[in-house]
Amino acid sequence: MQVKKARELGFCFGVKKTLKLFDDMGADSSGVHTLGTLVHNPQVVKSLQARGVGVAQDVASVPGGTLTITAHGASPTSIAEAQRRGLRLVDTTCPLVTKVQKIAQDLHNQGYQVVVFGDHKHQEVRGIVGWTDDTALVSADAEELVPRLIALSRSGKRVPKRLAVVSQTTQPAERFKKFIADLFSHLPDDFREVQVHNTICDPTLDRQSAVIDLAQEVDIMIVVGGHDSANTRHLAELSEEEGLETYHVEWPDELRPEWFEGHMVAGVTAGASTPDDVIEEVVRRIEMY
Ligand code: SF4
Repeated sequence: MQVKKARELGFCFGVKKTLKLFDDMGADSSGVHTLGTLVHNPQVVKSLQARGVGVAQDVASVPGGTLTITAHGASPTSIAEAQRRGLRLVDTTCPLVTKVQKIAQDLHNQGYQVVVFGDHKHQEVRGIVGWTDDTALVSADAEELVPRLIALSRSGKRVPKRLAVVSQTTQPAERFKKFIADLFSHLPDDFREVQVHNTICDPTLDRQSAVIDLAQEVDIMIVVGGHDSANTRHLAELSEEEGLETYHVEWPDELRPEWFEGHMVAGVTAGASTPDDVIEEVVRRIEMY
């Protein structure tokens, strides 16, 4: 089976930077915790666990020592709490996430009701909301969002008639565009100002356009990455939307030879948190079919 890899795939520079820091710490990183999962990839998480790195879901559950803010960032409240508790803080927030936090904070300070397009459970999104004094609304569906905006406006607590929308950095570009179009079509006329900031990061956009291009050249697509990695799932969805038979695998062992029967060329892409050696092992096995 011939294999073609996407021109952009695997670790983005933000994840590489965070992982380099752990490599620099050496084999023993006991006493170090990350705030939330470092990356949504089981291979990476396992290798960090082996070095003694713990995962804390919140600052309160860190027993002491060093707390690492991951590439996804954190809220100012979490950072202040870590400082107050005397934890040694290592901040590896990706600069592109910091940029979104800053935009959201500035817009909130200017009186805009900030809306974050994304997944409300994701660490990055929770962090961004924190930079707006926890006032930002999170949504991935404009139809669901608009009634909340209207209710908020009528409650008199705030008058969110000036909206500013930012995106989680790893969302699919097409879905963000649709969200904005739906928002405009459902908003009442008295919402007079809407600012839109497309804050999807360049590495995400590059990986998304690369998988769409690759889908034109292959007849089956394998997407490699953690099953709970949103950016990996989005790559698989984009490939499916191109009408391609697509499989999302976390481990090389998940590959099934029968998937490749009747196919000539397999495409391989991978999410921003997938290690190179996992991608290469997937490619090697497909080439053997
Ligand atoms: S996906 Fe984008 S924002 Fe997130 S860590 Fe990578 S480069 Fe930074």
